[in-house]
Amino acid sequence: MVELAYPVVVRPGALDGLVDVVRSAHPSNRVVIITDRNVGARYAKRVARLLAAAPTLTIPAGERNKTRKTWATLTDRLLADGFGRDTTIVALGGGVVGDVAGFVAATYMRGVPYVQVPTTLLAMVDASIGGKTAVDTRHGKNLVGAFHQPSAVVIDPSVLKTLPAEHIRAGFAEVIKHGVVADASYFGSARAFAERWKLDGRDGIAELTALIERSVAIKAAIVRRDEREGGLRKVLNFGHTMGHAVEAAARYKVLHGNAVAIGQVFEARLAERLGIAARGTAQSIEQACKAAGLPTAMPKASPATLLKFTRADKKARGGKVEYALPSRIGAMAGEHSGWTIPVEDTLVREELSNRA
Ligand code: NAD
Repeated sequence: MVELAYPVVVRPGALDGLVDVVRSAHPSNRVVIITDRNVGARYAKRVARLLAAAPTLTIPAGERNKTRKTWATLTDRLLADGFGRDTTIVALGGGVVGDVAGFVAATYMRGVPYVQVPTTLLAMVDASIGGKTAVDTRHGKNLVGAFHQPSAVVIDPSVLKTLPAEHIRAGFAEVIKHGVVADASYFGSARAFAERWKLDGRDGIAELTALIERSVAIKAAIVRRDEREGGLRKVLNFGHTMGHAVEAAARYKVLHGNAVAIGQVFEARLAERLGIAARGTAQSIEQACKAAGLPTAMPKASPATLLKFTRADKKARGGKVEYALPSRIGAMAGEHSGWTIPVEDTLVREELSNRA
């Protein structure tokens, strides 16, 4: 178990102990489950039974529903059903459910506790840890949100057996990111695992559990030192400045993990161009992404549109967009500049044109 200010349990079968985790965090609270239709159809009854018939609110699945409208629908339902400040929300689902249910928890009655129960690889290795909650807007991703730490995170990798392969692959983008950011040897084993295993998601739960544990430990070590992203935590945004722009330009029809894979390769190339990253860094990332079946080429979107979305991202400061860039696999640049590097639009535009 990893300890942040809250426990993170990673274990096949961990769902069966959910009630103890929820009850020990908030013994006398009413519990409500928020999930999406896909996850709800498979797991909501079981989880509700485990939580003494807790009611379930179900949202439509997919990034396009991570909106203020969904937030409003959920908070209206909670109000109509008389939920008070003594409510604990259980976020059962992928990163979309985790982010929107977390934002509901951050704002409902000025904040109620919540427990993350991530059901995608991406949410297990990344989104459920660290307390970032948000919804998307037409101006860009995650632009309305709050830091609100969960009371606990319960990760049961056995639920990955029902996760479609494309979403297992998408989760690998964040696994690769953790290797790039903090641990070259983990990067190597993640790549070897991706090559060997073909990522079909039906087997290998024990091996996936080991990867999840390592990713959680890497993310927890960073978040513990910088909960509100004043500095070091920014390294976790590697691949996300361009990745978010790719997602927004595609109107969220590209999976987040796929966009992050594309973003990492692009940003690593940018880092090499700037002389910040060791030569070959981008190629290694590209090979790892390809081994995991992830896309790496920029999609068809005009450089002007992509640049517009990078500027709307939260990493823009004083007219320049700030990128978290690697110096090599396993280490990030920018220690003396707040862990980001300002990059001129003209340079980004040139790199985008090279890749068109
Ligand atoms: P997602 O939540 O949309 O889930 C992917 C799909 O898988 C959905 O259709 C879902 O219904 C389905 N699903 C989930 N679990 C399943 C299971 N066990 N079996 C069958 N189907 C299942 O997508 P995601 O990739 O988990 O999350 C992406 C989101 O996470 C993005 O919005 C991204 O911004 C966010 N994110 C947040 C953070 C953070 O720190 N808060 C970090 C990384 C990503």
